[in-house]
Amino acid sequence: MHVRCSHCGIPFTLSKETIHTALTEMEAQQLKHYDARCPQCRKVNRISQTLLLRAAPDWGKEEEPSQTKP
Ligand SMILES: [Zn+2]
Repeated sequence: MHVRCSHCGIPFTLSKETIHTALTEMEAQQLKHYDARCPQCRKVNRISQTLLLRAAPDWGKEEEPSQTKP
């Protein structure tokens, strides 16, 4: 998903893997937002759980057979 830094304005990308990890941590810690660090200015951008869920609708499905090879 694409994020625009609210501090310096540059766009950056959160990978699906990052989003999934974030959602898992948020659930474990009962947080409602994720702190995404800007790669340029290193400041934190708060991203709501709702946006992350929208960007990664397949999160929460236990089986992810994409990387399993016979
Ligand atoms: Zn920034």
